[in-house]
Amino acid sequence: MNRQTLTHPIRTQMFIDGRCAGSGDGRTFAVFDPATGDEIAQVPDATDADVDAAVFAARRAFEADTWRRLPPAARERLLLKLADLVEQHGDELAALETLNQGKLLGFSKMLEVGGSAQWLRYMAGWATKIEGSTVDLSLAFPPSVRYNASTRRVPVGVVAAIVPWNFPLLMAVWKIAPALACGCTVVLKPAEETPLTALRLAELAHEAGFPPGVFNVVTGRGETAGAALVRHPQIDKVTFTGSTEVGRIIGRQCASDLKRASLELGGKSPVIVLDDCDPRRAIEGAAGAIFFNHGQVCTAGSRLYVPRSRYDEIVGGIAQIARSTVLGSGFDAATQMGPLVSARHRDKVAGMIAQGRDEGGEIVAGGRASDRPGFFVEPTVIGNFDNRPLTVVAEEVFGPVLVAMPYDDVDEAIAAANASAYGLGASVWTSQLDRALRVIDGVEAGTVWVNTHNMVDPALPFGGFKASGIGREHGRAIIDAYTETKSVCIAY
Ligand code: NAP
Ligand code: MG
Repeated sequence: MNRQTLTHPIRTQMFIDGRCAGSGDGRTFAVFDPATGDEIAQVPDATDADVDAAVFAARRAFEADTWRRLPPAARERLLLKLADLVEQHGDELAALETLNQGKLLGFSKMLEVGGSAQWLRYMAGWATKIEGSTVDLSLAFPPSVRYNASTRRVPVGVVAAIVPWNFPLLMAVWKIAPALACGCTVVLKPAEETPLTALRLAELAHEAGFPPGVFNVVTGRGETAGAALVRHPQIDKVTFTGSTEVGRIIGRQCASDLKRASLELGGKSPVIVLDDCDPRRAIEGAAGAIFFNHGQVCTAGSRLYVPRSRYDEIVGGIAQIARSTVLGSGFDAATQMGPLVSARHRDKVAGMIAQGRDEGGEIVAGGRASDRPGFFVEPTVIGNFDNRPLTVVAEEVFGPVLVAMPYDDVDEAIAAANASAYGLGASVWTSQLDRALRVIDGVEAGTVWVNTHNMVDPALPFGGFKASGIGREHGRAIIDAYTETKSVCIAY
């Protein structure tokens, strides 16, 4: 399979109110194949008026009786149909994702396509399971009157969903599937680097039978289209996944407008190896934790804490994996790591590695951008044996860059792991349950993994402590994020 698998022409129009649309002023921007640097498409650069049209389409669809007042089973059926269509067009969607995002084709198939179908089906099931409760009140006035009280969950309204470029299709589905299950309508803005699968998803949703305006996609830049969407007075809720920096901007705007906001933000997740671990498993696990998806994972295990006595063995083993990793196109079966998403991101990652070296870090493996065409950076391991306050330890790189630090006792490792602005994920590698439980108790993170890393499931809540965000996605928790509680009090 290769880019020729794209049996459909690439969709390059926005999807608003059940129809394809260009931008009002005809302006477009280029999207690229990161494995070659070649331009692959031009997509609309949405204006404020385009955003307005999409939001009003979503508002009309929300106010109509044809979506939120449908029987929940009808919404469930449409989401299941969309999951089927995503699978039926899986080869095409996977190839499109690898072409535009650069990830290995196997991961495009398994995670972007397979994961999207799985999330759509899980969330479809929630449509028929949204519940309130009855409440016994203590009101005793007037004396002859009784009260019957209950709560119900109602859709929050029109949702603006803004997503990043690391898992373009899956992130879009993480937003739209629960929002639609709850009866909300959505305007989605994909990242400017990776808009193509979201445009195809909207078309498939239309084919599945979602009414016009229920799910709209606008393509554009964050600072223009994204910001216009967030501040739009007809948006009731913003759900955002992206950097902490942009999350703060969006959070401030939502606070001032009193819009609901869910923020899934950056991370600097620690990997804590204990001295009783299975070393092969820890080495391979720590390498996978940072190099999976070329480090472009919000929970990437980017800080490694290793017992001083095992430092050379563990860090050396990971460096060996880094050095032997085959870089190349995600379409090539021999490739083990693809490109970063853009030239700008490659330069940022290479710059942070250089800064780490200049500040006293030791480059144990990799250490620079690759010479080949496309946007490649070598998988990199930076040794920080002296525990220097390197910028690359504090700040998110979002690339294949691991910093390794020794520790003397586990409490010291936990304290170092927690000495971060972030708190998204963490993993501990050990063969002793009681030691794992002590690390789980001590680490400040939205998810703690034991002898694994980066594993997510639609049933397991996901989100960040501290600067890694506000709110949780997936599981039962997500229903609260897309509904409001309406309390009902009846006197009789
Ligand atoms: P980003 O720069 O924050 O952009 C994310 C999205 O926000 C993009 O669609 C972007 O549009 C848009 N945007 C930018 N400025 C905006 C503004 N002022 N108003 C409204 N929207 C705006 O993040 P990224 O570089 O795409 O993605 C990497 C980041 O995402 C990392 O920090 C990573 O940790 C985080 N992430 C977090 C999770 C999680 O679940 N916690 C998951 C994945 C990624 P443009 O593309 O047009 O700029
Ligand atoms: Mg951006």
